[in-house]
Amino acid sequence: MNNKKNTYLHTSEIIQIADGIVKQYYGKRVPQKVDVDAIAVKVLKQNILYESFAEANRDKIAFAADGKTPLCIWRAGKVERTLFPANTIVLDRFLMAPERETHRRFILAHEISHIILSRTDPQHHAARFHTEQNSVGAYSLAQLHECLAFSEVQANAMAGSILLTSDALKQVVKKAFGRDRITSYGKRLFLPKDVEKLHRIADAKGVSYTTLCIQLEACNLLNVRSVEEYLQKTGVTDGS
Ligand SMILES: [Zn+2]
Repeated sequence: MNNKKNTYLHTSEIIQIADGIVKQYYGKRVPQKVDVDAIAVKVLKQNILYESFAEANRDKIAFAADGKTPLCIWRAGKVERTLFPANTIVLDRFLMAPERETHRRFILAHEISHIILSRTDPQHHAARFHTEQNSVGAYSLAQLHECLAFSEVQANAMAGSILLTSDALKQVVKKAFGRDRITSYGKRLFLPKDVEKLHRIADAKGVSYTTLCIQLEACNLLNVRSVEEYLQKTGVTDGS
């Protein structure tokens, strides 16, 4: 069973699929800020609902319903195991707070990414919807756990690629920096003036600074130099 073929998508494939999904909604236009709600509703035909989650796992704050797996929610002071119809994305109500908008957008993009990945990758689908069947079928429990963890990584990668498509990133880098690539030092370390610009871009695009940095790297828009050079440029060391 360990020689099961690995069908996981590569970063470049994830980026292309995400670009394609965003283009389904916007055509050739590159939006200032991707309307992830509109993409969920209009392109992927999902209903988005907000409920107060009552799951034992407090980290669970979003749920893409398959019509078979119940979700525990609070209703009139009681916990109710509720079956939501397929094509429903349920988000925890606390994400509706205006100060959590960036987080909410990412979580919604993450959930639609699970839906897209489930349709394009059989392993992703298996990990998502068959965790309760234990070792029944083609996967052992250990394999399922491994699949599940990797599925989360992939959904995060696709979420970032939907919120920041490669076209949008290339355009914004050129505009803000006047170059095709941004210079970074070591692992995502930037000069202070560039950090400021990156924060402004992240705000304008409705993503976190971290998501922006990850996507710049994924789209190969960083020109990576050494940390020694960073220390010289910032005047921490004199370079001698
Ligand atoms: Zn997930």
